[in-house]
This record gives sequence, structure tokens and C-alpha cells, in this order.
Amino acid sequence: MDIKEQINKIVFPRDKKCMLCEREAIINEHFICSDCADKIIRVYDTQRILGISKLRCGLLYDENVKKAVWRFKYEGKAYIAYCLATFMTIGDDWQIDCVVPVPLHKKREKKRGYNQSMYLAERICEKYELPLNTNLLTRVKDTTTQTDMTREERLANIKDAFRTTANVKGANILLIDDVVTTGSTLEECVKTLKRAGANEVYALTACTRATQR
Ligand SMILES: [Zn+2]
Repeated sequence: MDIKEQINKIVFPRDKKCMLCEREAIINEHFICSDCADKIIRVYDTQRILGISKLRCGLLYDENVKKAVWRFKYEGKAYIAYCLATFMTIGDDWQIDCVVPVPLHKKREKKRGYNQSMYLAERICEKYELPLNTNLLTRVKDTTTQTDMTREERLANIKDAFRTTANVKGANILLIDDVVTTGSTLEECVKTLKRAGANEVYALTACTRATQR
């Protein structure tokens, strides 16, 4: 075990509990117990989103996964990124220059203490040996929560929420987010990046509400 693994072992108590249901159990390579392993639904390719070259997701956002994502986002349990990221895979033909987590508005990030998508992005960069870029895209509009909105309302709410803050001309970018619902957030990100001259924009999320098509 190298030093990095040792530190991870201390910081992330993944040997003790299933990362999805939090029960003490024998966990598999995804850091989950056998009950959760039976329950989860892997999704891979999902809905199309305007402007996105390819979108892939890890898990279906069912009740069990939803509870884990809640703890990941709002209870400071950043180690859950280790579990979720094991279900996230990029396509063999994806040409990626850099990995960009969907940013939170800095007010929200400060309140929460972290951006959960950034933890996922870190794991993906580690897995595929890709560079992380957290300075490329910023969120300039602190949008209200979109949970109960229709797709049209979401699109209006998120319009002009992002800005590029570095040169993206000709770049192939992989966007990382935790959950894709209607795709309005990713759609707005890709619009912003393409407007600034990005070439291909891919997206990879930990979960999706949509079933496989
Ligand atoms: Zn479990």
C-alpha cells in the first residue's frame, strides 16, 4: 500500500460500511454491499442533450441511490465519490483534453464547503489519467433549486448561468456532474463552452433519472 492509499484509507472509511446504504457489511469493488449490488441499475448511455457529443451515466437515480447522493451532497460525505465514480465510464472513442466539473456558484460552494462534482471529476481524472480543469467554467448566476420545475422553467432559470474563464478554443471537454434530470444544466454548460469555441463536449454523470433508451 503506498502513502496515497494509506491516507485514503484514513480519510475515507470505506472498509467499514456500504457507501450506498451505510450498513456495516462486506463490500465489493464498488464499495457497496451485496444487497445494494442487487438493487442498483446501471444505465450507461441515456438521453440525448442538445450540443453534447456523448452523454454517459452511471446509475439509475432510484430511492437507494438518491439517499446516498443526498449524503454525498449535503452531509459532507465526500468519500461517496469513490463509490459513484466506479460506475462512471467514458467511451473508448472519446478524445478528451480536460475534465471540467459542473461548477456551483461560489456562494453555494462556500455554504456547502465543496462542490460534489469536483470530487467525482477528481476520481475520473485519476482513473483515466486525464487533466482536471476547475478554472475553465464558472457559475455566475446563483440559480434557485430546480427540483420542482418543468424542463422549460429549468432552461429559463439556468440561462446565462455559466461563463468561460479560460481559452477553450478547439478543446475537447468532458463535463462531470452528479445527477442529470432534464439535462438543462448540462445543456447550458455546453452552450457556453461551444460559444467560446470548444470543439467536442462530452458529459459523464454519476446518476440519471432517465431509464436507458
Ligand atoms: Zn448497501
